[in-house]
Amino acid sequence: MSEVWSNWSGWVKAWPNAIIEPASEEELADAMRVAQAPVRVAGSGHSFTALVESSGTIISLNKMSGLLDHDSTKHTARIKAGTTIRDLGPMLFDRGMGLANQGDIDRQAVAGAVGTGTHGTGVGLGSISAAVTGFRLVTAAGDVMNASATENPDLFNAGRVSMGSLGVMSEITMQALPAYALEETGGRMPVETVLAQVEELRDAHRHFEFFWFPYSDEAIVKFLSETDTEAKPRRRRDDGAETRDDKIFRLACDVSIYLPFLRGPIQKYLTSASGRYSLSTDEPGRVRWSHDAFPSDRNNKFNEMEYAVPAEVGPDCAREVAAHMRKCGINFLFPLEYRYVAADDIWLSPFYQRDSVTISVHQYHRQPYADLFAGVEAIFRRYQGRPHWGKLHTQKARDFATMYPRWDDFCKLRGELDPQARLLNAHLKDVFGVE
Ligand SMILES: Cc1cc2nc3c(=O)[nH]c(=O)nc-3n(C[C@H](O)[C@H](O)[C@H](O)COP(=O)(O)OP(=O)(O)OC[C@H]3O[C@@H](n4cnc5c(N)ncnc54)[C@H](O)[C@@H]3O)c2cc1C
Repeated sequence: MSEVWSNWSGWVKAWPNAIIEPASEEELADAMRVAQAPVRVAGSGHSFTALVESSGTIISLNKMSGLLDHDSTKHTARIKAGTTIRDLGPMLFDRGMGLANQGDIDRQAVAGAVGTGTHGTGVGLGSISAAVTGFRLVTAAGDVMNASATENPDLFNAGRVSMGSLGVMSEITMQALPAYALEETGGRMPVETVLAQVEELRDAHRHFEFFWFPYSDEAIVKFLSETDTEAKPRRRRDDGAETRDDKIFRLACDVSIYLPFLRGPIQKYLTSASGRYSLSTDEPGRVRWSHDAFPSDRNNKFNEMEYAVPAEVGPDCAREVAAHMRKCGINFLFPLEYRYVAADDIWLSPFYQRDSVTISVHQYHRQPYADLFAGVEAIFRRYQGRPHWGKLHTQKARDFATMYPRWDDFCKLRGELDPQARLLNAHLKDVFGVE
């Protein structure tokens, strides 16, 4: 039997004929020419959708990691595509730079994060894909192409969020910033206050987000603000090393599977145990360099759905989603997460030409998610939502054609670069409407 490949949550599994780990762009190009289809490239396997699943070939760029080049004046860096964001942080920092924004975790490969439009939060701040200024792509035929705003601009605009459907990125150039430190503050606030003042909270901090357990009438807000205060180094835990809070949360999740009627009280308890009341104090927060400040450890596994909706309808959409989750009768324990992402010009970016709020819904990995997510997805769609490509959704080509003005242009380019659809698995055939 072939080696099994699994995503982070364990719900997507694949038994490919071969898992290939090229160590150079030449080896990658050679592999692409002969690999058995479907040929799927994996990052760190942190997508919840079946993007990487293949019975043919899975390509891993684990051996293509590191910084190739940088420009300290322009604050740009040329990175091997398999580098993880976690490894990239210190490499950039040692050269006086930091990424403009990051998401909740930093385990993803840079190309994997770019490939789905992975994002953090912050007014005026785009996704990680929007920070890409160029890349090299190895096509299904093994040809190597450069893409930037001036060289193959259509490929650049299509390829920055393309889920490995146009080819495999071998290297990526990113726009960064001079290294900067962030102070983390926040705490509990009444959720109605947060929703009523959401734009002021957003504008007052470089990064603002909140978590809301739907059964609680308080939300947990988190701010990261740029500061000149001296940053303290952060000791990162090993992968999977659980904290006391992780253990408590896991226990709560396990208990609520068997005692679902406790989900309301548990959610209220978890909120009240989540720190100080943010309006009652202005104590200074922890100060870290940006690459240490952004990521959290996520040791309790879950599945997730996230949609980007127009920023101005975010509060109404969040209220409706939470109300649905409270009354649908389905057991769940994770909070909603609410973030801001700036508009960009990437053809299949969920933020294409639209300042957005992203709202995500999670379900513990030991519990089924389909019914919970189906009800929430219907609400997201009514708010003109666009799904995160790496998070669960049930949309098909005809739906995407209505969401993305450049959908047909993307599909045409994809067909030209990979006429035999060797890079598409069953999930992506559904996405692109290819038989
Ligand atoms: C615990 C957790 C927290 C998360 N937090 C966030 C968050 O804060 N914000 C957010 O937006 N998302 C978040 N995500 C989702 C995650 O960032 C995305 O799904 C991301 O794409 C995963 O990156 P990866 O390296 O694991 O790539 P994979 O999941 O392995 O692959 C993602 C896509 O990228 C493609 N790809 C990979 N490498 C290449 C390459 N070299 N060239 C071309 N295409 C390539 C793959 O084919 C696939 O289509 C989170 C996921 C988890 C599990």
